[in-house]
Amino acid sequence: MNEDGMYCIDGGRPFVERLTEMASDAMAVVAWGACASWGCVQAAKPNPTHAVPIDKVIRNKPIVKVPGCPPIAEVMTGVITYVTMFGRLPDLDRQGRPKMFYSQRIHDKCYRRPHFDAGQFVEEWDDEGARKGFCLYKMGCKGPTTYNACSTTRWNGGVSFPIQSGHGCIGCSEDGFWDKGSFYDRLTGINAFGIERNADQIGLAAAGIVVAGIAVHAGITAVRQLTTKPKDTIKTIASEPTDKNAG
Ligand code: SF4
Repeated sequence: MNEDGMYCIDGGRPFVERLTEMASDAMAVVAWGACASWGCVQAAKPNPTHAVPIDKVIRNKPIVKVPGCPPIAEVMTGVITYVTMFGRLPDLDRQGRPKMFYSQRIHDKCYRRPHFDAGQFVEEWDDEGARKGFCLYKMGCKGPTTYNACSTTRWNGGVSFPIQSGHGCIGCSEDGFWDKGSFYDRLTGINAFGIERNADQIGLAAAGIVVAGIAVHAGITAVRQLTTKPKDTIKTIASEPTDKNAG
C-alpha cells in the first residue's frame, strides 16, 4: 500500500489497482494463504512496504480467509466446491475462516495428543522421546494455538503433515505467526478449557509415581465427561480462539 502500491507491480500496474478492479463484480473474495489472509512475511515488522491482507483493501465484499503457508489443497478445493455446489459462502468464524476447516486446533486432533496428556515430551531432537514419537510441545510446537485441518486432512493426499514428520507445527495459518518469535520457543500458558495443564506440570506428575499419573488421567477423564454437557456449548467454546491473536 505504500507509495501508491508501487512495491507490487503486476502487468505494469500496481496490483492493488487490479485487485480492486477484479473484485468489483465479485460475489466474494477468497483470500488464499497467509499472505492474502494476514499479510504474512512481507508484512513483518517494520513492514516498510505497508503490505496488508486483502480485507484491508477490499472492504465492500465478503472475504473468505483460507490461511496457511501454504493452505492445504483439500481445504482450498473444499471451499470452492462448497460455493459452487450451494451457491453461498460457508459459515465463517469471526476471523473470516470457514468453520468447517478452521474450527479446531491442530492439537485437538493430533495423533501425538495422548503423549501430551501423559506428559511424554521430546526434550531434544533425536532423543529417545523423538524416536518414540512423543509430543513436540517442548520443541516449540504451536499446535495448541493453531486453527487448521492439518492433523485431520494431513497433506499430499493424506500422506503426512509436519508433526508426523517429526517437526512441531509453526502456526503458519495464524495471524502474525512470522512476528511471534522463534518457531522453537515453547508456548506458555496454554491452560485452555480447564482440562490442560502446563506441560511441565504434567511432565512432573508423570515423572512421579505411576499411581499418581493414573489418578491425574482419571481426573481429566472425569472432567471431560462432566464438561460434555451441554455438548453444543462446549463445542462452541472449544471452536473459537479467545481473541484475534490467539495464535
Ligand atoms: S503440542 Fe503439538 S505435537 Fe503435541 S499433541 Fe499438541 S499438536 Fe501434537
